[in-house]
Amino acid sequence: MARLKVRVTGIVQGVGFRPFIYRLAVRKGLNGYVRNRGDAGVEILLEGDEEKIDDFLRELRAKKPPLAVIHEIKTSHLKGKYRFKEFTIQKSSREAELSGSIIPPDIAICDDCLRELRDPKDPRYDYFFITCTNCGPRYTVIESLPYDRENTTMRDFPMCQFCMNEYADPLNRRFHAQTIACPKCGPKVYLTDNRGERIESNDPIRMAGQLVSEGHIVAIKGYGGFHLAASTLMDEPLLRLRRAKHRRQKPFAIMARSLDAVRSFAEVNRRERELLTSYARPIVLLKKSENYYLSDLIAPGLHNVGVMLPYTGLHYMLFDMTDDPAFVMTSANPPNQPIVKDDEEALKRLGDIADYMLFHNRRIAQRCDDSVIRVHGESTVFLRRSRGYAPAPIMLRHAAKRCAVGLGGELNNTGCILLGRKAFLTQHIGDVENVETRAFLESSMRHLIHLTNGKVEVIACDLHPKFVTTSLAEEFSEENDWQMIQIQHHHAHIAALMAEHGIDEIIGIACDGYGYGLDGEAWGGEILLCTWESMDFKRLAHLERQPLIGGDLATRYPLRMAAGILHGRVDVEEWLLQHRKSFPHGEREIEVILKQIKRGRGIRTTSCGRILDAAAAILDVCYERTYEGEPAMKLESLAISGRDILKLKPTIANDILDTTEPLIEIFENKSRYSKADLAYSLHSYLARGLAELAIEKAMEENVKAIGFSGGVACNQILTTIMRRIIEDSGLKFLVHNSIPPGDGGLSLGQAAIAAFSNQT
Ligand code: ZN
Ligand code: ZN
Ligand code: FE
Repeated sequence: MARLKVRVTGIVQGVGFRPFIYRLAVRKGLNGYVRNRGDAGVEILLEGDEEKIDDFLRELRAKKPPLAVIHEIKTSHLKGKYRFKEFTIQKSSREAELSGSIIPPDIAICDDCLRELRDPKDPRYDYFFITCTNCGPRYTVIESLPYDRENTTMRDFPMCQFCMNEYADPLNRRFHAQTIACPKCGPKVYLTDNRGERIESNDPIRMAGQLVSEGHIVAIKGYGGFHLAASTLMDEPLLRLRRAKHRRQKPFAIMARSLDAVRSFAEVNRRERELLTSYARPIVLLKKSENYYLSDLIAPGLHNVGVMLPYTGLHYMLFDMTDDPAFVMTSANPPNQPIVKDDEEALKRLGDIADYMLFHNRRIAQRCDDSVIRVHGESTVFLRRSRGYAPAPIMLRHAAKRCAVGLGGELNNTGCILLGRKAFLTQHIGDVENVETRAFLESSMRHLIHLTNGKVEVIACDLHPKFVTTSLAEEFSEENDWQMIQIQHHHAHIAALMAEHGIDEIIGIACDGYGYGLDGEAWGGEILLCTWESMDFKRLAHLERQPLIGGDLATRYPLRMAAGILHGRVDVEEWLLQHRKSFPHGEREIEVILKQIKRGRGIRTTSCGRILDAAAAILDVCYERTYEGEPAMKLESLAISGRDILKLKPTIANDILDTTEPLIEIFENKSRYSKADLAYSLHSYLARGLAELAIEKAMEENVKAIGFSGGVACNQILTTIMRRIIEDSGLKFLVHNSIPPGDGGLSLGQAAIAAFSNQT
């Protein structure tokens, strides 16, 4: 006979943890209670047989709900007599007021629900919106906290008696499942043509699947917005989709019917399999297999393809009447717009693209794109952290000194609120360049601040004077009387790493395409010393400055970048003329470019991304960038099968790594060696050069850790080589684990500087 108090900390609120504890206690015949204790986690009091309490604790760890993350379990034995005759869930009235509450992300359909979906005897057989306490939409249905049905878009669907009984039964899997529904009382699905005219069908989902399989484009409403679905085996619908979305080359994500289907066209290792089948069901970038047989229009010029598995009942049913291994499932967003979430908006904006629309009548409260992940060896690299992850907080090692908000930069943006040890990041917002995406960031940020009940003191944004996010920060600051600080782009990248790993000082290697520098120049290949001691950092070294011929045009047309670098050592004129067709204005444009090069003035950049771009042009991989990162990504895809044939020694002088020489070497060896080997050689040069520089600086400054951040850190080859050299030197090498290395992680870095720094 024993009495035990148990404290569980971690992500244990709003994730079905208390009902789980209740069921477990009742099953073990234990009395007592479970209740939320705010930031202190969940408190459980148990009375009963000692053996049964031990069993309870074992199963608590082993069988916890999918979304729960347990950081610590503390137990203490209590003296005294039994006080409880049963086990209860104690509700605390103040729950909604607690700051930093956890808002659960959407979770993929669980195995139990999937089994019921397929069981003809089950009341929810064939019901597309089958969910339980362990699965279903969360963030995308929640309008306010506490997380009760009344505060979600499910309030439009009053429960029938059958659902009500399950909802009220503590021993049922759907006890307090806020999204509980059945074919009788829950959301309905229907098919229309592209003008919204109903198409009669007693099986609209499977009919939609067949339509996709036959070559039609179907807009499909999901948890966080609409997808556009198309065949992966036919070129025609993909060409149409590319034209309509103005996406000439940008890869489309696909949804495969099963893991076996994935293995028929892509390589899947253990870590990738775990991610594909996880509750978050992200899109995982997988290496195309030797006998890849899907349309080349899905991920043109890349060695990998983004794949996800079905994550709702609807998705599973979509494939039932087809043999297709996968469908293209790309976010339905018009160019430069957020993903479409409302029915009317869908008809208006997608009617021209889609042939048919598969709707359901449940409103979407928050839009949320799919997440995208890539695996480097054992570690996962977020390219986009959104559905399945956001807005669950990232738990930091140290508590913030003040509550701070970060609004990020411009491209691939997110927002962040940091309070206590929790960093809440918004879902993927996209490129904040116009009113629509600005409004999306603003409303998501307001929603998150409201849900977490954070008492914000500081708002941080980028140093760039013209970013939309900078003006939004000014607005927020004025409206709420928050202090506003501007953070240099690469400083924010490195600070995000420091916050994630809970360290106080670091030599950071920040490599990306562009960030506004302290001197107003374009930065992007930086070695920085960062600490929390002040809001400043030290720029210790960087890549060689290279001319951006024609400013932004050099980013769009990597041939310009290459010409600016090669000039003087190579007959650039002749080379450019060979490629005259790749310039919109042909020879006339080349004349202007040559004049600009000779004049030698204009903006320069230290960007690592631009060097990779230039190499992509030199090696004929990419002459025009049609999406963010395209030339560099295609260069990596080429290099992945190469080896270091040139073995160039990094040239470093005055803390600057030379980038001209390696590009000339590549140019001059084009006819001697394979392009893959040359592409790899450049990667090797940059990785070794940056690692050497960083190690030298770490020794000088007596810093023990080196970190790698910025969009270029998504590159597997660079990361792998750097890691080997830096770890061999006895230093720690840190990369991002829970947020994107690219600009999607910027908001956390900004908020971290505002929250952790000793202010000056
Ligand atoms: Zn379920
Ligand atoms: Zn029902
Ligand atoms: Fe960046």
